Amino acid sequence: MDSSLTSAQQEIREAILKVCAAFGDGYWLERDKDGAFPHAFHGAIADGGWLGIAMPEAYGGSGLGIADAAVMMQAVAESGAAFSGASALHMNIFGLNPVVVFGSEEQKRRFLMPLIKGEEKACFAVTEPDAGLDTTRLKARAVRSGNGYAVHGQKIWISTAQVADRVLLLARTTPLEEVKKQTEGLSLFYAALDRKYVEARVIDKMGRKAVDSNQVFFDGLPVPLEDRIGEEGRGFEYILHGMNPERILIAAEAVGIGRAALARAARYAKERIVFGRPIGKNQAIQHPLAKCWADLEAANLMMLHAARLYDAGKPCGVEANAAKYLAAEAGFTACETAVMTHGGMGYAKEFHVERYLREIMIARIAPVSRELILSHIAERALGLPKSY
Ligand SMILES: Cc1cc2nc3c(=O)[nH]c(=O)nc-3n(C[C@H](O)[C@H](O)[C@H](O)COP(=O)(O)OP(=O)(O)OC[C@H]3O[C@@H](n4cnc5c(N)ncnc54)[C@H](O)[C@@H]3O)c2cc1C
Repeated sequence: MDSSLTSAQQEIREAILKVCAAFGDGYWLERDKDGAFPHAFHGAIADGGWLGIAMPEAYGGSGLGIADAAVMMQAVAESGAAFSGASALHMNIFGLNPVVVFGSEEQKRRFLMPLIKGEEKACFAVTEPDAGLDTTRLKARAVRSGNGYAVHGQKIWISTAQVADRVLLLARTTPLEEVKKQTEGLSLFYAALDRKYVEARVIDKMGRKAVDSNQVFFDGLPVPLEDRIGEEGRGFEYILHGMNPERILIAAEAVGIGRAALARAARYAKERIVFGRPIGKNQAIQHPLAKCWADLEAANLMMLHAARLYDAGKPCGVEANAAKYLAAEAGFTACETAVMTHGGMGYAKEFHVERYLREIMIARIAPVSRELILSHIAERALGLPKSY
């Protein structure tokens, strides 16, 4: 029993671990090799009604908070599914928060219901090759055309664009030179991914092969007016609403992966006999593992703190960023330590820790890098001048 969780959250954790038990290490190793999207896993989670955990009840969700969703996603990652499993669901859990907050009643029915039932999948397209973390410099354009827009431009690193039916897309509707503030003139759309106008090219990458990452090219994608979320020009403001929950979920998932790695390392340290005794009898093996445990659990408490602030409607930007930073670093060190604890076998796929190490790197890079998080904390928590 984890005393930092409520009894309802403990039940969520146990129920999710039960669903995940049907998708063991062998399943994820196969997906890592063949790169096929884990449809069976996604389907099992959808069938259990879990995809709508944090979505409003009026549209088929459970109306629970981000803390509950974090407990769910952590259990997915901790089961050994790591980011191969968590990222297959991630966008569906909270990605459409801007639609919940700013969408019309008609849009919520049309967009949220099929997502919650698992009938549709969504992807999120913000990052661009020439803008990077300087989001407001993005160049994708949505130009007024007939009763809607035509989207032109390029995005990069877009997760699940191969399997997604729709894309939550940030594009410029007023040129940068014509706005007072850089954050203005960007609009948010939830557009159908009509492959006649959209090409998604898979990026061959380090890990999480089962959840595709893509370069996406938009060549005049028609988007009807009714698929624009909120007002034209306020898209940047809208996506900010989903950012803190996303950092909290990534933090929860990173702790989950770290715990999975640590459990494997501790098991191996007890079983592996060298110099006539288990390697885990050496403090040089024990202490790094114990430090990983302490760092992971501390990061987890920061994550739960940020989630509870968010659920209480309180500001949580600094805490959500700190949680993402601490969890990604603690998760990374735990995965690296787990590989080293296994010695040569840490490099073998059959012990799974090398997969965790490749996957945990994502939490250090996305959706925002360590450097930008530290700049944010320096500015907001310490009152230092903005550095970028
Ligand atoms: C596996 C994966 C999945 C992803 N999924 C998605 C997705 O679904 N949708 C989406 O829109 N994006 C996605 N991303 C993109 C991700 O959010 C970006 O890669 C991330 O925000 C970093 O942007 P960048 O790669 O352009 O880095 P850059 O902006 O090019 O930065 C490069 C490096 O320079 C550092 N840097 C830049 N400016 C400063 C500064 N002022 N001070 C200090 N350091 C600085 C950064 O911290 C970073 O280390 C994904 C990325 C990965 C790897």
